[in-house]
Amino acid sequence: MKYDVECSSCGHRSSNLLDFRCPSCGMPLDMKIHFDFETKRISKKDFSVWRYSRFFPYVKASEIVRLGEGWTPLVRFSEDVYFKLESLNPTGSFKDRGSAPLVSALHKMIKKRRGYISEDSSGNAGASIAAYAARAGLRAKIYVPETVSGPKFSQIQFYGADVVKVSGSRSKVAEEAQKHEPGKYYVGHILHPLFRDGIRSLAYEITEQFGWKAPDYVYLPVSAGTLLLGVVSGFQHLVCSNVIESMPRIVACQTNQVSPLYHRMKNLSYKPPTTLASVADALVSVDPPLLELMVKNLKEVEGDAVMVEEEEIHEAFRELAGRGFYVEPSSAVAYAGYRKHAKNKEVSIGENAAIVLTGAGLKTATIRP
Ligand SMILES: [Zn+2]
Repeated sequence: MKYDVECSSCGHRSSNLLDFRCPSCGMPLDMKIHFDFETKRISKKDFSVWRYSRFFPYVKASEIVRLGEGWTPLVRFSEDVYFKLESLNPTGSFKDRGSAPLVSALHKMIKKRRGYISEDSSGNAGASIAAYAARAGLRAKIYVPETVSGPKFSQIQFYGADVVKVSGSRSKVAEEAQKHEPGKYYVGHILHPLFRDGIRSLAYEITEQFGWKAPDYVYLPVSAGTLLLGVVSGFQHLVCSNVIESMPRIVACQTNQVSPLYHRMKNLSYKPPTTLASVADALVSVDPPLLELMVKNLKEVEGDAVMVEEEEIHEAFRELAGRGFYVEPSSAVAYAGYRKHAKNKEVSIGENAAIVLTGAGLKTATIRP
């Protein structure tokens, strides 16, 4: 099962799985897989992301770190709408799909060098990386903004990660996390190609749960782009392997405050607010390092983007909770995007939509009944 880690800009191939950016030009790396998806190669008795382990060849079966990630329920919500309940992953969000293969692939290598991993995130990704490091017996240092608090931060600390508080901007936090120090291996979820590649399993699961058919539409909340890029790559793999006939229409859902991708897709100029004050507080990437890659890949698969207003997020959140689905407001952005499209007749009756509900409402500190 052949694969290459390739620079998304200059095409340089990296042979070191620990690289998080191109050693030649510094741009983001991308995982390229050169084998077909075959349904007969699935581990059918394994109800986790590892039922697809053969399609993640950089992870050795004997080194898999498990917390019960993946194979989350796909629940029919109405005639045409299905929810993929990613909040039911071990740490409460879809990020476990990235952390599990990332940590599984690297933990032995890093332990052998007596090293530790570093990540910058005060949210779901930080919690997820910290949990998988804990399970692997690997030290993790999580860099967070100085002002951070709330349930996700508590979660990171309880997993036993060392927390480093950094004052200044969010990019300063990333800079500190990436700064070279002896024994430190940066596995930042936004840049590290293995994290993003792990998200492919979500496309496989949705397709298998639909009976090896793709839904007509897939709605996702988009901030840094790991979810979007991983899901696009998974569906592309299924199309190239002739498992499905064509791509579902992938719809990137963004808030009016954090919508650089939406603006680029619609050829509009984007000026982010100086401070963010949305209830969708997990969506913060006003200047995502993967923006060019997102634009390129989303256009390539003829995807779409939609932007929702604060009021629409509240309405979607309340409707979901009122029907028993208690998600993060940031996750409700995907459903808000769908509602907007349905209202504007951009989705027709009889067309299936899978909406990815990315994270659990219990981790939310910003909304009051
Ligand atoms: Zn390069």
